[in-house]
Amino acid sequence: MSTLLLNADMQPVSILPLSIVDWQEAIRYLVLDKIEVVEWHDDWIVHSANWQTRVPAVVMLKDYQKPKHTMRMSKRNIFLRDEYLCQYCGTAVTDQSATLDHVLPVSKGGKTTWENSTTACKPCNYRKAAHVGKFKPKLTPYKPHFWDLAEKRKKRGFHYQHPSWATYLE
Ligand SMILES: [Zn+2]
Repeated sequence: MSTLLLNADMQPVSILPLSIVDWQEAIRYLVLDKIEVVEWHDDWIVHSANWQTRVPAVVMLKDYQKPKHTMRMSKRNIFLRDEYLCQYCGTAVTDQSATLDHVLPVSKGGKTTWENSTTACKPCNYRKAAHVGKFKPKLTPYKPHFWDLAEKRKKRGFHYQHPSWATYLE
């Protein structure tokens, strides 16, 4: 479990990936007086030899941080762009079952870029490796706009680690 980090305007500091911090970091910010606690985890108390504290579920930065509207070229962001569908057979995939496929294979000089990376299920990735050139992804890979990708991320939904997160993530 962890803590949702909100900006001074009550919006998450980032969505791609979601701004969450572990409890140690949340406590550290609290000690440094950088945050206000918005919600606490109900039955989660951490102890050391000299102190104990409840762990925040949602915190808000006291100083507004200019949000970074940038996204990394990452496997997860490629899967998100392709809406977790294998671009060869259309099967729905997950972070576990999806593979990142280089449209032009690395062995042929293909690069790991937005424009050369697509989502493939494992069987398609395997089949494609043996038949270079015969397989074309349904969607030509492209670099998405930040807001498009952020919208897709929101649509997929987040795993709430505290019920109050819904308030800030819907
Ligand atoms: Zn497939």
